[in-house]
Amino acid sequence: ERRAAVAAWSGPAATRDGVAVKLLANVADPASARAATEEPVEGVGLFRTELSFLDRPTEPSVEEQAELYAAVFEPYAASGRHVVVRTLDAGSDKPIAFATHEGEENPALGVRGLRLAADNPALLAHQLDAVAEAAGRTGVDAWVMAPMVATREEAAAFAAQVHQRGLKAGAMVEVPAVAVLAHRVLEVVDFLSIGTNDLTQYTMAADRLASDLAHLTDPWQPAVLHLVAITAAAGQEAGKPVGVCGEAAADPLLACALVGMGVTSLSMAAGAVRAVGAQLARVTLAQCEEAAEAVLAADDPAAARVAARAVLEPAG
Ligand code: PEP
Ligand code: MG
Repeated sequence: ERRAAVAAWSGPAATRDGVAVKLLANVADPASARAATEEPVEGVGLFRTELSFLDRPTEPSVEEQAELYAAVFEPYAASGRHVVVRTLDAGSDKPIAFATHEGEENPALGVRGLRLAADNPALLAHQLDAVAEAAGRTGVDAWVMAPMVATREEAAAFAAQVHQRGLKAGAMVEVPAVAVLAHRVLEVVDFLSIGTNDLTQYTMAADRLASDLAHLTDPWQPAVLHLVAITAAAGQEAGKPVGVCGEAAADPLLACALVGMGVTSLSMAAGAVRAVGAQLARVTLAQCEEAAEAVLAADDPAAARVAARAVLEPAG
């Protein structure tokens, strides 16, 4: 019966009492962007641009980048759905020959993501030019966000460059420093998107790729959820969108708790959207808020899961 409800769910997503939640797709390239439109998504919440350049020895031209981005935007243009482009998240687990610094002792804490723009500003400028060009060509509502932001100053410098090109600017919340000061960062950007994969890694000081640390790199860790709650509350206070685009968004029970904290959109692998949408449709906002309170009060991930299930699936 549950499986039939998931298969039949067709969006747009809302809680049982009608509170809308945007469900968006994580995409990597034109093929996955097009495939995602087969699912009931309301747009793209994370376009991981770096994945197209992993094997490239040199920086692609602005025109080549614009063509690639336009191909990703094109399936979303007619319907007015927005696409969130993430600028190059190069470094650490995603080394890119033309961008990444070589020989860092500790690349996860090194010059990665937006930090690369400090000594190579042209790389970011070219990418923003290409995104603006592709947005103009397709007419898509393109939002642009930077990965690995750590300070309000970095976010402000990035936003200024994005706004110059007439696009909406955001910061990813992957570094705990930005979650703690989310209200201050929200003064300089239009939106935030919480990357729970890296936020968990940096909060718990545990390598996201180390399988023997999986008990720590669990987005149900109460410390991680407290940082999400701080960020979502800041977004509600500022009246600006705060989404989640890490793996946590694809977990139907956790998704409800995130909505209860005030998160306004959830971006995930397109194949997960129906299960999350169907779960949200079964519960009220009050239940989501109760689940949020329960997971924040839990002492560990297992207790948080039990507490969320008790609120969201009381009949078993
Ligand atoms: C994240 O860190 O949660 C995220 C969405 O980015 P990525 O998984 O690509 O690092
Ligand atoms: Mg990340």
